[in-house]
Amino acid sequence: MNLLDRILDLLFPPKCPFCGRVREHGGICPECEKTLPWTAENEVCRELPGALRCAAPLWYEELAREGILRFKFQGASALATALGELAARCAAEQFPGEFDTVTWVPVSKKRLRKRGYDQAELLARAACRLWDTEPVCLLHKTVDNPAQSGISDAAARRANVLGVYEVCGDAAGKRVLLMDDICTTGATLSECAQVLKDAGAESVVCVAVSKTRGTFKK
Ligand SMILES: [Zn+2]
Repeated sequence: MNLLDRILDLLFPPKCPFCGRVREHGGICPECEKTLPWTAENEVCRELPGALRCAAPLWYEELAREGILRFKFQGASALATALGELAARCAAEQFPGEFDTVTWVPVSKKRLRKRGYDQAELLARAACRLWDTEPVCLLHKTVDNPAQSGISDAAARRANVLGVYEVCGDAAGKRVLLMDDICTTGATLSECAQVLKDAGAESVVCVAVSKTRGTFKK
């Protein structure tokens, strides 16, 4: 560890993303590891509209929900490392050899200015650090639409994200891993995947840190 990293560690000691206990080497503490709402082996992958597969290691409940909300809304961008690594390990297990490019579901420019960071981009960056690579910005959000979290109806959620994303990089021939923080109905992921495929992506698989329980009409 170099001097700057040591100083940064003293000033901002790495903490467990879920309970805030200081952890010498970062990562999730053993207590949280035990109590987190992990998805079971047969529940990790969910099929979304368009036969799109989305993997998620955690249910969006209890400790996982609290950690993700902190990460998303309270400026706790440092939590990205632990959460991004969780998603990365899950994607590597579920989709071995199925992707060569990592990208994320972007927020709008307006949201980015307000929040100061794009949470899914931070997750993708953390995942890619594990794999010694860099995520590629392939999507832009061109419309600052109402947040999906305020809409419960599946059809309304699909309508809300329709046409709000466009491709901003070269997606042609890429086998893409698309990352996000939460998968609810999958409307956003499906729309982004479709935009990527329309731009020539060979395939798309998705990973989210967590997903909600329940089944949704496809
Ligand atoms: Zn903990």
